[in-house]
Amino acid sequence: RLAAAQAGTHALIDLDALAGNVQAVRARLPEDVVLMGVVKANAYGHGLIPCARALLAAGARWLGVARIEEGLALRGAGITAPVLVLGPPNYALLQPALDADLTLAVGSAADVAAIARAASGDFGPARLHLKVDTGMRRFGVEMDEALELVQAIVADPRLELEGLFTHFATADEPDPGFLREQARRFRQVRHLLARHGIAPRVVHQANSAAALRGVVGDADLPGERLVRAGIVLYGLPPSAAVPAPPDARPALQLETRLARVFTVAAGEGISYGHTYVAGREIRCGLAPIGYGDGLSRLLSNCGWFVVRSTRCPIRGRVCMDQTVIEVSRVSGVEAGEPALVLGDGRSGEMTAVDIAELCGTIPYEVVTALAARVPRIFL
Ligand code: PLP
Repeated sequence: RLAAAQAGTHALIDLDALAGNVQAVRARLPEDVVLMGVVKANAYGHGLIPCARALLAAGARWLGVARIEEGLALRGAGITAPVLVLGPPNYALLQPALDADLTLAVGSAADVAAIARAASGDFGPARLHLKVDTGMRRFGVEMDEALELVQAIVADPRLELEGLFTHFATADEPDPGFLREQARRFRQVRHLLARHGIAPRVVHQANSAAALRGVVGDADLPGERLVRAGIVLYGLPPSAAVPAPPDARPALQLETRLARVFTVAAGEGISYGHTYVAGREIRCGLAPIGYGDGLSRLLSNCGWFVVRSTRCPIRGRVCMDQTVIEVSRVSGVEAGEPALVLGDGRSGEMTAVDIAELCGTIPYEVVTALAARVPRIFL
């Protein structure tokens, strides 16, 4: 808090909120379902290592990342929990990945062959999770090639088929039709493997939206059920159709501190291009935050910050490092005044959902955009 009070632009990350969000999600899942905390892209902008630790301490059993480098960073911080690299494996990093005991996702015969070559056997077989493309049309083996690939993995002593998974394309859409269809297709694959006597130890399909909708896979087929939850653990909704649970809380707050307060005369333009021209004399505050920090330039002339519980509109263009807000409605504002940029909305500030709507994107991108140069302060 002290550090926060002294900082300029900074993010406050409430690790207790993350822990509460783990509980909120767990409470909505069947007892046997295991939680993977997805911490890719710097824990959705929130800060990889502290968030990973907080999620594990709160009950997540696995961590999910997109890249091997992210998994290596977790290991480098001393985190020993199972880590699944969800994305296609980078062949240049297979050796360090296996040495670090990361679990790799595979989606093709080429992935499997590359990992088999890299697996020395010193640490036992390389543990793989086979990703099946049931309709996302992104990463994963085609359904009609899954059995052959599974059999190749099972036959190779350098490899262990630890998991089987798929990913949903429309879990957060209002119409659940294709979600159900993908779940049905994945069930078919599980049945097929079971008929061939192959039972991966772990099976997973649900992201946050599917988990909140209860589409977590059938318990009657073999395999421990896992859900891969990301966005909801940060307290944000997957979409308008699939809201976050009412007891989930956004964990991230973005604050800045005005560097200058000044008067702009009627008729003067503000910031690049003079896209805002004052219609009357106004008081403005200069905030040391811009798109170089992850504050979208699309918020120019439409976003707002909150100063002393009052909404203060952004005037003119958001620049790379600086943004001007109008503070006319707040009396006595001086340089050094704190301003809230993004939070849970309780003080009237923009939420990640507000920003996403103003910018034509999704809350995922809003928080993930938070730049490395913004100090994260963990509460
Ligand atoms: N699983 C996979 C394969 C993903 O790519 C992602 C994120 O995009 C997730 C799970 C987590 O998704 P969400 O943040 O919607 O829970």
